[in-house]
Amino acid sequence: MPATRTMITGGAGFIGSHLARRLLELGHEVLVVDNFYSGVRANVRDLLSHPRFELIRHDVTFPLYVEIDEIYHLACPASPIYYQRDPVQTTKTSVHGSINALGLAKRTHARILLASTSEVYGDPTVHPQREEYWGNVNPIGIRSCYDEGKRCAETLFFDYRRQHGLDIKVARIFNTYGPTMRPDDGRVVSNFIVQALRDEPITIYGAGEQTRSFCYVDDLVDALVRLMAMPADFSGPVNLGNPAEFTILELANLVLELTGSSAPLEHRDLPQDDPVRRRPDISLAEAALGWRPTTELREGLRETIDYFRDLAAASAPFDPERPG
Ligand code: NAD
Ligand code: UDP
Ligand code: UDP
Repeated sequence: MPATRTMITGGAGFIGSHLARRLLELGHEVLVVDNFYSGVRANVRDLLSHPRFELIRHDVTFPLYVEIDEIYHLACPASPIYYQRDPVQTTKTSVHGSINALGLAKRTHARILLASTSEVYGDPTVHPQREEYWGNVNPIGIRSCYDEGKRCAETLFFDYRRQHGLDIKVARIFNTYGPTMRPDDGRVVSNFIVQALRDEPITIYGAGEQTRSFCYVDDLVDALVRLMAMPADFSGPVNLGNPAEFTILELANLVLELTGSSAPLEHRDLPQDDPVRRRPDISLAEAALGWRPTTELREGLRETIDYFRDLAAASAPFDPERPG
C-alpha cells in the first residue's frame, strides 16, 4: 500500500515539527508547508534528508495546489506576542488559510484536521470547559485576531462538512508545552524556564492567581493522530489537553524548584482579556479517542528544562538558523 501523503501546515512550528516526526515514524509521506513566521527551519532541518519528507516555504493565505490524502492544518502563530505582532495577518492566516486548506481538501478528497484552541472559549464563565460551551469572547480586543480567527476557522470547517461533505476533524487544543518551543516564544512555560536558567526575574503577569492546564507535546501529538484516524462521522470539536490545573504562581515555583534557580519573582501588568481560569473537560476525548494525557507537569517540565539547558550550552544567544 502506498504511504499516506500527509500535509502539515505550520509544520516548522513547535507542535507541527513534533507531529512531522511522529508521522514519519508511522510511515507517512510528510509535506510541511510553512512561511516561518513563528516557526524555524532548525525544527525540521534534520528531517530534510529523510526520503519521505518535503518542506515548502509558503504562506497559507495564498492558494496551494498539491496532491494529498490528509491535512493537519496548524499554520497560525500561537503565542500572544507573535499573534498580536501582526493581528491582521493572524486573522488572514486563520480565515483565508482555512479556506485554502479546505479548498485543497475538497479538490483532493483529503481528510482535514484543524488545530483550534481553548481560546474559542475566551475568558470562560463555565468551568471546566466542555465542548458544548459557546464561550465568552471579546470580539474587538487584542486577543480577538486569534480567538475570532479560530472561531471563524471552525465555522468554515463545519460549513465545508455540511455544504461539501468534507471529512473534517476539529481539535480544541489547550496550553501545550515541551522541547523545541522558542526561547523567545513569549508563552509562560518557555519564559519561566529561560528566566530561571538565566537567574533573571520570573515575570508574573498580574497576581499570578490565574490558572492554566499544561499538556506535554508528546501527549498532544498522540491525540491528534488518534483524532485524524476517527471515522468520518466523528468531527468533534474535541478538547485536547491535560486537565490538571495550576496557578501561574504554582508553575513559577515548580520551575524554580526543578531548575534549582534562585531567581526572584517580579510582577508585571496583566495583559488585557487574559483568561482567569482554564481547564479542559476531556471526557469526550477519553470516550471517543480512548486518550488521556500521561505526562505529569513535573515530568514534562524536566524534559523541557533539559532542552533549554542544552540549547543555552550549545548556542547563546538563540539562533533560529542553528543546525537541527
Ligand atoms: P507555532 O507558532 O510554533 O507554530 C505555528 C506555525 O505556523 C509556525 O511554524 C509558523 O511559522 C506557521 N505559520 C504561521 N502563519 C503562517 C502562514 N500564514 N502560512 C504558513 N505558515 C504559517 O505554534 P504551535 O504552538 O506549534 O501551534 C500550532 C497550532 O496549534 C496553531 O494553529 C495554534 O493555534 C494551535 N494551538 C497551539 C496551542 C499551544 O499551546 N501550543 C494551544 C492551542 C492551539
Ligand atoms: N484552493 C487551493 N488549492 C486547491 C483548491 C483550492 O488553494 O487545490 C483554494 C482556492 O484559492 C480556492 C479556495 O481554496 O479559492 C476555496 O476553494 P473552493 O473550491 O471551496 O472554492 P472556490 O473559491 O474555488 O469556488
Ligand atoms: N504569563 C505570565 N508571565 C509570562 C508569560 C505569561 O504570567 O512571562 C501568564 C499569562 O498572563 C497567562 C498565562 O501565563 O495568564 C499563560 O500565558 P501564555 O501566553 O503562555 O498562554 P495563554 O494566555 O494564551 O494561555
